Amino acid sequence: MRIKNIFLLIIIIFITACSNQTDEIPTATESIFLTLPVTDTPSLPTETPQPTLTPVPAIQRAKYSLNVLMDYDAHAVNVDETILYPNLTGKQLNNLVIAIVPNLWQGSFNLTSVMIKGETITNYIITNQRLDIPLSFFLAPNETLEIKIQYSLALPFAEQEDPSISRPRIYGYTSRQINLTNWYPFVVPNINGEWILHEPWYYGEHLVYDAADYEVTLNFADPATAPIVASSGVPEIQADGSTIYKINSARTFALSASRDFQTSSTQVGDVTLTSYYFPFNESAGQAALQATNEALQIFSQRYGAYQHKSLAVVMGDFNDGMEFSAFYYLSKDFYNLYDGTPANYLTFVAVHETAHQWWFDQISNDQALQPWIDEALATYSERIYYENVHPDLVSWWWTYRIDFYKPEGFVDIPIYEGQGFRPYTNAVYFQGAKFLENLRTRIGDEAFFAFIQDYVKQSNGKIINANDFFAFSKHTPRSIFQI
Ligand SMILES: [Zn+2]
Repeated sequence: MRIKNIFLLIIIIFITACSNQTDEIPTATESIFLTLPVTDTPSLPTETPQPTLTPVPAIQRAKYSLNVLMDYDAHAVNVDETILYPNLTGKQLNNLVIAIVPNLWQGSFNLTSVMIKGETITNYIITNQRLDIPLSFFLAPNETLEIKIQYSLALPFAEQEDPSISRPRIYGYTSRQINLTNWYPFVVPNINGEWILHEPWYYGEHLVYDAADYEVTLNFADPATAPIVASSGVPEIQADGSTIYKINSARTFALSASRDFQTSSTQVGDVTLTSYYFPFNESAGQAALQATNEALQIFSQRYGAYQHKSLAVVMGDFNDGMEFSAFYYLSKDFYNLYDGTPANYLTFVAVHETAHQWWFDQISNDQALQPWIDEALATYSERIYYENVHPDLVSWWWTYRIDFYKPEGFVDIPIYEGQGFRPYTNAVYFQGAKFLENLRTRIGDEAFFAFIQDYVKQSNGKIINANDFFAFSKHTPRSIFQI
């Protein structure tokens, strides 16, 4: 009897150890995998078996570890990047496609080395923003691959003198800011056997992202004059002077640095919201923070919980807002035009970008081919904000934000068929908002928000398409789509 019990206990301990292992690699063991070439046979301790020293197990999401040295004045960045990429495609893979978006700027991206499973490889192919890596083996389903990439960035000057250019140019530096967006190589999603990396366009976003975990260690070449940093991650200051920023289940990691930033923070539950703005824009910086605070609370109630511990609102030296995970930019123009009331671009774009934390970050989509899936919902979320916080401004919002442009066109078009920035936003954003308003009117508030909440709950962390969106009629009361 007693022997049997001990045997059972051993089995239970073993199962527990295994299940921990497959959930996520415990922190203590990560450094082992990062420093030991996977091809080496690790020496096992003699006393007890260590399940963590078996080959790298499947992880839920890719993990990006970026060791960054920034020379702020030279506009130069050196990066040692390690990607732990789990093959979650369900099929074996014999190649990888990695986006290297900084390579769209001539001379900006300089690759030093690529290592796969601890071995340097040279047979990769670089074509514009695309790095193709053939594998000399098959990566089995659920197997995790270690990729190490060393590179440097020479940041381009990103000041926009021509206001007619509708595409905001973010990546690079201005006289008072460095903006790192889509600045590191990342493995693009593989959907139904196809690597998804679309071509950039004059407007709209072209990238598609899997959710991933990030750990960014940041050092400055001259720590004495280090700028203030806004980023997607929660900072942890280290004893050696570096800062580690962490975020889990994010689509992308953005970072902005400036010696001129002023900051203002507030707390919503356990989420820290911080507004970063330049001198002479304090009241607009505070207003952006307040709108974000209000929007975060409303969307958390209406859609589902916000999933990160921080959100950075960053004034940007370019002419639009732009969403990233736990981070968004607002154009300097909105700050300069801010009139002290909530009836302006600063407020509704702040709300729009906050909504992207659900419609982009939590639930992702192909931004190039089906941009309406996030943009229509983000735009319509502005209406949901106003009806809750400033109900007297709802009709103003429809008139000034939407109807002024006399929107027309099909909602579900790719960015490439937009026929210009204004016709594109009219169709995708504004006709999209009208589509959602019509849907809501038809089925009623109760069914509409039940649908939205179900959609958020079941699609969290995924990349969904239009068919998935409409398939939610299956998960919601039948009455919703009987229209
Ligand atoms: Zn948007």
